[in-house]
Amino acid sequence: MQCPFLKEARVRWCRAAGIRKPIPDTRSDDAACRCLSEAFRDCPWVSPEFRRAAPPCPHLEHALVQYCEASPLTRFVPFSEPLLTRCGSDAHKYCDFYLDILRAARPPLQGHEFAAPEDLLYTRNHWWIDLQEQGLCHLGVDAFLARLLSGVERAGILTPRGAAFPAVVFTCGGTDFTATFPARLRIEAVNPHLRLDPRRTLREPYSAGWLFRGSLAEDQTAVLKTLLVSASEARRLMEEDARMVNETLQSRHPAGAVPAMADGGLFEEGLLGLLEPEEALRLLSETGSAAAGRRR
Ligand code: SF4
Repeated sequence: MQCPFLKEARVRWCRAAGIRKPIPDTRSDDAACRCLSEAFRDCPWVSPEFRRAAPPCPHLEHALVQYCEASPLTRFVPFSEPLLTRCGSDAHKYCDFYLDILRAARPPLQGHEFAAPEDLLYTRNHWWIDLQEQGLCHLGVDAFLARLLSGVERAGILTPRGAAFPAVVFTCGGTDFTATFPARLRIEAVNPHLRLDPRRTLREPYSAGWLFRGSLAEDQTAVLKTLLVSASEARRLMEEDARMVNETLQSRHPAGAVPAMADGGLFEEGLLGLLEPEEALRLLSETGSAAAGRRR
């Protein structure tokens, strides 16, 4: 499905002018356009051999173009421009311009919520994947892992491009935690905001916080689907793992001294950065988050 902000327009421009500036071809300004009337003969750009031609001006070109209605800067691109792949496919849901306007569709996580959007699929080790047309996909971590890691100080991509198991190292409380997607795919891009503002990406893990964009061959997709669970199962797994985190903390610390418990009994946001490194790493591996780390 193409982005609702992707629009089409007919434009015209002058082949003889020093600067190529496409102008939308709207009928309303036809009367004012000297290129369409006899007045074109007075234009300094017109070559002498065209001065006797009938209007419109022979230098005038027309084309069908596309542009983004959500972008603050309008840039017309040819109709078949491959750059528009994102705009012409489901990948538009992860575009910053789109998200700035339609953030309400996938709002940032609130309070104690373990949300899991219905249109995504999930892994048992707390990643999500959006399988799109022609084997394209976006992926990131779910609300459970985002909550554990939300105090992140730094994030580094371990697999920036090519065929790999997508992996990110998150640094929390001075300890590195590696989160790895459990299947190999062809990585085409990573979220550029991850390095600059990793906390923001974890606040919106299902939209602006996507981590990788990639593609899968048909047979890889079939294998991957055997590992994936639905949104309702993902919510159940997140709640089960959250209970396990609480019980583990309570069993390891004397009564009244349980660290990092938020009101309502749910573990504190950014828990991994609040615990001693050994305890944080053990806890993470016990939740099956397929993350391993090392002390910095
Ligand atoms: S740039 Fe983004 S918002 Fe604009 S048309 Fe493309 S996908 Fe949509």
